[in-house]
Amino acid sequence: MSFPLPPPQAPLGCAQCANWARTRQQAQAAGDLSRVIDMNVLIRRHHPPTDSPRRTL
Ligand SMILES: [Zn+2]
Repeated sequence: MSFPLPPPQAPLGCAQCANWARTRQQAQAAGDLSRVIDMNVLIRRHHPPTDSPRRTL
């Protein structure tokens, strides 16, 4: 079961994520969805959520 996650927001103060978010916007404008997803993955990986409901040990 796959669930469409909301696109991650680039946190303020992270230049790397700001850069990825800009690339994502350009990719979105160009209709390049696979690149949009790549940018989302990069941003999400850069700032993993700490309050994940699912814990894998
Ligand atoms: Zn970041």
